[in-house]
Parts: sequence; C-alpha cells; structure tokens
Amino acid sequence: MIGTSITRLIARTVWDSRGRPTVEAELQLGGGATGRAIAPAGASTGSGEALDLRDGGTRFGGFGVDRAVRALHEIVTPALVGLDAADQAAIDRTLSALDGTERFSRLGGNAAVAVSMAAAHAAASAKGVPLWKHFAGETAPLLPVPEIQIFGGGAHAARRLDLQDFMITPHGASSFREALEWTAEVYRAAGSALAQTGQLAGVADEGGYWPDFASNEAALEALTRAIHVAGFKAPGQIALSIDVAATQLFREGQYHLAAENRRLSTDQWHGQLSRWMEAFPILMIEDPFAEHDLGAHAAFTAAFGHRAQIIGDDLLVTNAARVEAAAKAHAVTALLCKPNQAGTLTRAKAAFDSARSASWGTIVSARSGESEDTTIAHLAVGWASGQFKVGSFTRSERMAKWNEMLRIEESLGQAAKYAGAEIFAPLLKARA
Ligand code: PGA
Ligand code: ZN
Repeated sequence: MIGTSITRLIARTVWDSRGRPTVEAELQLGGGATGRAIAPAGASTGSGEALDLRDGGTRFGGFGVDRAVRALHEIVTPALVGLDAADQAAIDRTLSALDGTERFSRLGGNAAVAVSMAAAHAAASAKGVPLWKHFAGETAPLLPVPEIQIFGGGAHAARRLDLQDFMITPHGASSFREALEWTAEVYRAAGSALAQTGQLAGVADEGGYWPDFASNEAALEALTRAIHVAGFKAPGQIALSIDVAATQLFREGQYHLAAENRRLSTDQWHGQLSRWMEAFPILMIEDPFAEHDLGAHAAFTAAFGHRAQIIGDDLLVTNAARVEAAAKAHAVTALLCKPNQAGTLTRAKAAFDSARSASWGTIVSARSGESEDTTIAHLAVGWASGQFKVGSFTRSERMAKWNEMLRIEESLGQAAKYAGAEIFAPLLKARA
C-alpha cells in the first residue's frame, strides 16, 4: 500500500458556478499519484442534508469556506496521513469519526465530500485505471440516461416559475452520444420559440432558459411542443421530467404558486399534479410534496408510480435510513443520489444500495452550484445508476459532465451500453 498511502492533504478555496467560494481537496500519495475534487453546493437544499459549512458574516455574502478549509488542514490532515487512499471505507470512517456528528456539522459536509472524492481520484490514478473503473470494481459499466433541464424556475430563477426544473429525458436514444444530440435539437427548438414570442428572460442557475411564462402549465406546454418541433415523439422517445422541489412552495400548511397567485391544500395540490401527469408526457417527477410529508408522497406514488418514476431528493437527502423508511412507506420509486448531501462516498453508496434493494431507480445528480469537477459522471457509470442529472445544456460546469460522459462512452467502445429503453419500458407500457 506504500504507493497509495496518503502523504499530504492540501485544501484550498476555489470558486463555483455561482461565483461563490467552495472547497477543493487535493491528496498526494506515496507513489507520486495525486487526486483532487471540488465540493458542489445546493440552493434548494433538504433540511436533512450534511451541513454546507459557511463562515457567515458579510464577506462573500457569508458564503466563505475558510472554516471548512481550516478544519481540513488542522483536524483532518493529521489523521489522514498514512491511510490508504484505496480504502475508501477507512477514509470515510475517519472523516465521520473526526467529525462526530450526524450531519458533519463540525468539519462541514463540503469539506468531507471534497476529501472523500479526492481519495477516489488519487487511488484510481495510482492504480492507473479510469475513475469509473475504480468505482465499478466487478460491476459492468452502464451509460446513464441523462435528465437535462430546458427551463429553470423555483429557487434558481427568482421564482418566475414555481416548479424548479423542466427537463427532458431522451430515453429512446441508442447511445449517450445520441441522447445529447437529441437534447441539443430540443434545447434549440425551445429557445427559438421563446425568442420569437419575446419570452426569454435570461438563464437560470443551472443554465436552462428562464422564460417569462404566465403559468407553470404554459412551461409544460412549451416544453412538450419543443420536443415535437424538434421531430421527436413524447413520451416514446423523449419524455418530460419535472422537479417540483415542493418544500420550497410549502408554507403554513399550503402549497403556494407565486407565478399563478394560488394557494392549495395538500389534497388540492395532489389534484393539480395529477392533472399535469394526465395531460403531459411526464415520465419522471421529483419531490412532488414537501419533505416532511411521507404520506402525501405515498398517496401520489400509489396513483402514479406505475406510469412515472416518483423521485425523492429533499425527502431522502441521500441517507440510507431515510431511503429505508420511505421504501417501507412506498413513498417514492427512485432516489436522487447527491454525494454532498451524504458527506462521503461511502454514505452516498449506502443510500444508493438501499434504493437498489428496494428495486428503485437511481439517479446520480449534480447540485445547482457546481464546478468543472466531473467525479459524478464516473460515479454514474461505475455504480451503473442508469440515470444522471446535471442541469441544463449550457454553461461549462454542466457541459464538463456531459462531455466527460462522451469520453467514457467512447473509451468503452463495443462494451458501451446505454441504459435507455430498459428503465422506462414498464412505465411507457402502463401509459399505453
Ligand atoms: P439544488 O437543486 O442543488 O439547489 O438543491 C437541485 C435539485 O433540487 O435537484
Ligand atoms: Zn431536487
């Protein structure tokens, strides 16, 4: 293990896609290999996530990460030096033990996840294998179906639209490369339509168009139209996927639709979502209800789980215990897996494995605050998640992940297998 033994940890502040500070960790190993990774950050975060440790105060709007960087140098470095970077479980166990809290409140989940991911990079480099292969072990790699944002709303676009993400999922493509080619056509069609009607108000946090629509339904209509105009069948080739991020809409017992000036009870909101599920080619829906309401999710899954994937993000926060509780309650049918919600790759993998045990779908996901780091592309392939969510089809922090996936697909040659049709076939059949 001399070659993979950790000799040095360097932590530094770098900048994310929102121009905010974030943590980068770099590990050096005895054999000369190095690995580094950058922590992402959410904006519409679940309350149970690992803590994104910030300095507070006025500097950088309170978003400074000096405390997290200092914790890495002062607390983590002495314990990490000498450990085997290839032993992910031991690295992550050490991080958890040093922190000693449920949600990484001492070190910061941002500090922890940067180190956890950097260890994987360093170990893969020392072994001379691609990162996805290091994650895969004996598992056969799988190219995921992407979920790509076309319109952004919610907390990422000053609430111009209530629903947070209006996405497409090109499951009918025959390869990842083709899935992106289809996406490019839909993105262009959607943009041209907005430009023609003067409804293009800007670009949201994850790079999607920020449209000036009068209602959420108008956005669903425009997206469905863009798929058709680009020449595809919906949902047969390309389906709609929406992230409601409903916790953000929930106040004082009601769901507030600011864009439409309406307030709905949980039952009324269930009814509204049901009408959208019937009227539009929606094959995936994330966080349809507030994060505390397992019962509302279960009722919705009972009604639509056979014909659409019902995904938990804020509801599950990439936490194995929460996944198990939600599985018992039949609350959702898929996990959105964000390593920084968990704080370490080991914890994220535990949540992932629990989701698999429940026969759920698994979607490896980026955050709204991102960087050039492409670790999650390798996780999606290596863990064979089958699905991958990164944001939109512009801005280099998003494109870095899509483009990395293209390189991985190409490197696999004949062995490249696109998850595509398999995942969605039963859902499509139930709709027919
Ligand atoms: P976040 O949003 O990264 O701001 O939490 C992404 C999502 O809700 O899926
Ligand atoms: Zn979400």
